[in-house]
Amino acid sequence: MNAALVAELQAALTPQRVRTNSTELGLYKRDASNIEGTAGIVCFPLTVEEVQAAVVAAVRHQVPFVARGAGTGLAGGATPLNDALVIATTKMNRVLSIDPVNRSAWVEPGVLNLDLTRQVTHLGLHFAPDPSSQQSCSIGGNVANNSGGPHCLADGVTAAHVLGVEVVLSDGSVVQLGGDEAEVDGLDLRGAFVGSEGMFGIATKVCVRLTQNAPAVRTMLMDFASVDDGAQTVSAIIAAGMVPAALEMMDQLCVQAVEAYIHAGLPLDAAAVLLVEVAGLPAGLEADVARIVAIGTEHGARTVRIAQDEDERALLWKGRKTAFGAIARIKPNYYLHDTVVPRRMLPAVLRQVYEITARHGLLVLNVFHAGDGNLHPLLVFDKREPGVMERVHAAGDEIVRASVAAGGVLSGEHGIGLEKRDFMPLMFGPADLAAQAAMRRAFDPTGLANPFKVLPSPAACGDVQHVPEGAWV
Ligand SMILES: Cc1cc2nc3c(=O)[nH]c(=O)nc-3n(C[C@H](O)[C@H](O)[C@H](O)COP(=O)(O)OP(=O)(O)OC[C@H]3O[C@@H](n4cnc5c(N)ncnc54)[C@H](O)[C@@H]3O)c2cc1C
Repeated sequence: MNAALVAELQAALTPQRVRTNSTELGLYKRDASNIEGTAGIVCFPLTVEEVQAAVVAAVRHQVPFVARGAGTGLAGGATPLNDALVIATTKMNRVLSIDPVNRSAWVEPGVLNLDLTRQVTHLGLHFAPDPSSQQSCSIGGNVANNSGGPHCLADGVTAAHVLGVEVVLSDGSVVQLGGDEAEVDGLDLRGAFVGSEGMFGIATKVCVRLTQNAPAVRTMLMDFASVDDGAQTVSAIIAAGMVPAALEMMDQLCVQAVEAYIHAGLPLDAAAVLLVEVAGLPAGLEADVARIVAIGTEHGARTVRIAQDEDERALLWKGRKTAFGAIARIKPNYYLHDTVVPRRMLPAVLRQVYEITARHGLLVLNVFHAGDGNLHPLLVFDKREPGVMERVHAAGDEIVRASVAAGGVLSGEHGIGLEKRDFMPLMFGPADLAAQAAMRRAFDPTGLANPFKVLPSPAACGDVQHVPEGAWV
């Protein structure tokens, strides 16, 4: 532990909000991924000035610092390495101002995604990005990971909903990128910051776009005898020129796990189900529903269930959004992958996913934002089984490579973090990686803001090249 740094932090933030006890540090050594590091100190600033003081002190002592929201990330982005200082934003959780006319709000980074929507519901507004973790993840984490969610198919992912960000840079300066208005004067650096995974600085305020609630919504569940039929329906709906508000798929094992949890009468014998939602003016919705049902039927949908009221709709969504928890009934551990493939490649890549996992003797459940081609194979296992982690990693490696080979990308929404860092050269050449590293250095010349994440090159990461031995748990 760096006693001088601790003393400076305690002076700036109060001793109560600077933690060094090993039990507490243990709680911050990882995010929700399977990658573990070590936290040297954890601090909880309340204001931008306190974040500045923490960053300046860390840099003075040459200690790396890691911004942390709610720690629900799945790529090891908030996992601290080498006894880093964790700067947790959980206490910076106020909605600072709401402008219903401009449909925007300034919020602190620790505000939870769903809390923001709850605070603007009375105005008929919501924050559109809706990760399945929305009850627990923070806006700061959403911005840093450019998070998505089921309803981002029509509305766009987080980048489309960030108007401005106040950022503490590693030299301690505070800059504002963007602002209240959709158009920005000067260079628009919001886009560079959104998705920067804590490596460009710490967001201390975010101006978010708020979205008007749709006047009417219709939600339907279609079930199929084969995964291929479901996947082809997804492509056909989009090819017909329709962009539903959400278009999600769950395969059989996932449906069975979810049904045992929510008891919604889901079809247990279906190979796959699609959850499709359309939103808009009531007059047009029935026509949209009819077109989607027709497309589904043409592609082999066995039944179509249309939610009759808000309770039934909420139940169907509960099934989708709690799927990761429901799988605990099958095995105690899971490893969730997040790749994207072109929609037309969904059937072929899904077939590969089943083949790869079967060959490694693993169970896989698929639950994903099918409309975006965003795959989420969930490998379920019991980590007490000897040798199982090696098989999980080997299968995961093959799934990532198959997705990229199909023309896809490494991550749809969870970010690169530590998990996918060493896959970056699969997608980017040396010049591309060097350009990204140069951008990182422009924001953070010290290299101390969340080092060793995302970028595999020495120039970007300092001299530690690999996820440390034993980091995977
Ligand atoms: C059950 C479950 C379901 C999920 N479903 C989805 C989903 O549908 N869609 C999706 O996109 N993700 C999903 N996720 C992943 C995760 O919830 C998101 O990535 C989320 O945005 C992370 O937010 P967080 O506050 O937990 O961030 P953390 O995990 O704390 O941090 C994530 C990254 O953001 C950086 N960061 C955090 N705060 C700041 C800040 N103020 N300034 C700069 N950098 C910062 C961290 O350094 C780290 O790199 C899911 C996770 C779980 C466990």
